[in-house]
Amino acid sequence: MKLTFLGSSHGVPAADRYCSSLMVEIGESTYLIDAGAPIIDCILRHGKTPMDIKTIFTTHSHGDHINGLHHYIDLVDWYYKEAEIDVFMTNEDVSNAMIHMLEVLRGAPYHADRIRMHIAAPGEVWNDGTLRVTYIPTRHMEPRASYAILLEAEGKRVLVTGDMSWKMMKHDFPTIVAEEELDLVICEMAHFGVPELTPYFETCKAKEMWITHVWPPEKFEDIKALNGKYSYPVYTAHDNDVIEL
Ligand SMILES: [Zn+2]
Ligand SMILES: [Zn+2]
Repeated sequence: MKLTFLGSSHGVPAADRYCSSLMVEIGESTYLIDAGAPIIDCILRHGKTPMDIKTIFTTHSHGDHINGLHHYIDLVDWYYKEAEIDVFMTNEDVSNAMIHMLEVLRGAPYHADRIRMHIAAPGEVWNDGTLRVTYIPTRHMEPRASYAILLEAEGKRVLVTGDMSWKMMKHDFPTIVAEEELDLVICEMAHFGVPELTPYFETCKAKEMWITHVWPPEKFEDIKALNGKYSYPVYTAHDNDVIEL
């Protein structure tokens, strides 16, 4: 499994960082987690086209996780006619708004046979024999839905936390991190800092931790100081960083 950070910024892009998106490659299959970056531009720069992308999974419907999606599906709709895409949204109203925008721009019904919009629910949402995807609820957007995402492929298990509650006040760090062996955890750090996450770091059974979505920038130093503290290494994600498992 190969994971590439297309965007590693928090809610706002920076000069060298797009907002959240992660490209996941497993053999010949490619998937995206979140679409806060201009994902059409990003995948082209990584040598992919929409014909290569099978599925887009979103963690929640804040703009920094989905604002690149509309541009992408618009191009699949009218230009990349050989492309098909399954898209997992977390809220029906946002999914409907995306579809409405497509149809307004085109002045015609969108290609629902090739652009398949789904509303995610807790539990397994996808298993194509290559990748199994499980949505784990978080409380980041309550009362609206938001999720962490568990990826399982090639005997590897990866948890992407998505965004979680402010200052971790709702204790919504997925318990799987302490309960089960994971090869990799990709954790956000815009809504809390190292002190709030320390109890979770201490019980984490992952082999490797990457921190993304970092804000404010002073936290980069706090994250660097974590190295050597736990049984697993802790890295900070930058755009175009690649993790091979
Ligand atoms: Zn975010
Ligand atoms: Zn958010």
